[in-house]
Amino acid sequence: MADHLIEIDRVTKSFGAYTAVTQTSLTIARGEFLAIMGSSGCGKTTLLRMLAGLEEPSSGEIRLDGVLQNGLPAWERDLPLVWQSLALFPFLSVLDNVSFGLKMRGMAKAERHAKSQVWLKKLELEEFAQRNVSQLSGGQRQRVALARALVTEPKVLLLDEPLSALDAHLSVRMQALLRSLQRELGITFIYVTHSQTEAFSMADRVVVMSRGKVEQIGAPKDIYRHPANRFVAEFIGNVNIFRGLVEAVAHGVATLRTPLGLMTASVGKVEVQVGAEADFFINADQMQLGPAAGEANHMQGKLLSYKFVGNMVTLYLECAGGAELKLNIPEPAYDSAGIKIGDTLQTNWTASAAHMFQQSA
Ligand code: ATP
Repeated sequence: MADHLIEIDRVTKSFGAYTAVTQTSLTIARGEFLAIMGSSGCGKTTLLRMLAGLEEPSSGEIRLDGVLQNGLPAWERDLPLVWQSLALFPFLSVLDNVSFGLKMRGMAKAERHAKSQVWLKKLELEEFAQRNVSQLSGGQRQRVALARALVTEPKVLLLDEPLSALDAHLSVRMQALLRSLQRELGITFIYVTHSQTEAFSMADRVVVMSRGKVEQIGAPKDIYRHPANRFVAEFIGNVNIFRGLVEAVAHGVATLRTPLGLMTASVGKVEVQVGAEADFFINADQMQLGPAAGEANHMQGKLLSYKFVGNMVTLYLECAGGAELKLNIPEPAYDSAGIKIGDTLQTNWTASAAHMFQQSA
């Protein structure tokens, strides 16, 4: 048995002169929940469609359990796809839609209906069993599509924005349900989404793509805390990015001269040269309000606006030279600071909050 359930090995997909996916390699473990994110048109769906057998790679190999999938039609792969524009049969009932895959496998009616009912129950669709799918809401149809894919108990489930038609409340419930089903069944999920919340709350690992290439793969926390490059940092959007001239490097920490003052950043594995310019980032939730504690790692700015995000408040500051800065502070800290738009605020952070990017983008 192969170590990895799925291997995507230097896969490229071109449509005429346009290359949608470029030399992408990725391995996915058995039972893993992998989320793929990236800006619109970056190749997420194309990658998923190649796994499902709905597109053929222009080059490179896709293996499932060590078996080459290139050239196999979709119906010969154990890789069902649940996608945004659902291909349910509008003239069939919910129950018949869900049991369709089992019927194709030759399962007797009583057995396939009993199995399908179990999934309708899990996805809270029991009451709609006899209803025609055309009489369901978009969210209900998405759940029918999920039940239809899960009833066949595939090794892998490919999901393309399966929760996009749901309201926020139902989406959160479905995220919890999907995650627990995935764990319980041990099915490998490959899940394409635009929603950072969905990806970060459910996935074991997240892939961030841009222009047909993988920019970073990692656990949600790693991607959140340590975006590999400027693209990922801007895409995730929780950090402030700076550029500075490296003045010194000692004990894994670089001291940089920036237009906003002296700052320090952990170097990690990057080779930093004194006298060169380098980009680095500071997590917005690791900056705090308050005066400078030392020579480096502080600045001031005028409060432009603020936004409540759960129990945190994001403050947007305008700093010297028009640079914008955001910081996330806990709501009690915001309340006790008694601040208002237009105030000049001091902010500081500890040296460990700033890091050099580990890759160039
Ligand atoms: P979105 O988030 O908007 O769904 P995506 O990341 O899933 O985007 P893809 O659907 O994979 O993006 O498309 C990647 C690129 O390939 C896009 O520029 C798209 O226009 C192009 N593309 C996809 N399918 C085809 C096709 N059949 N023929 C030509 N170009 C295509």
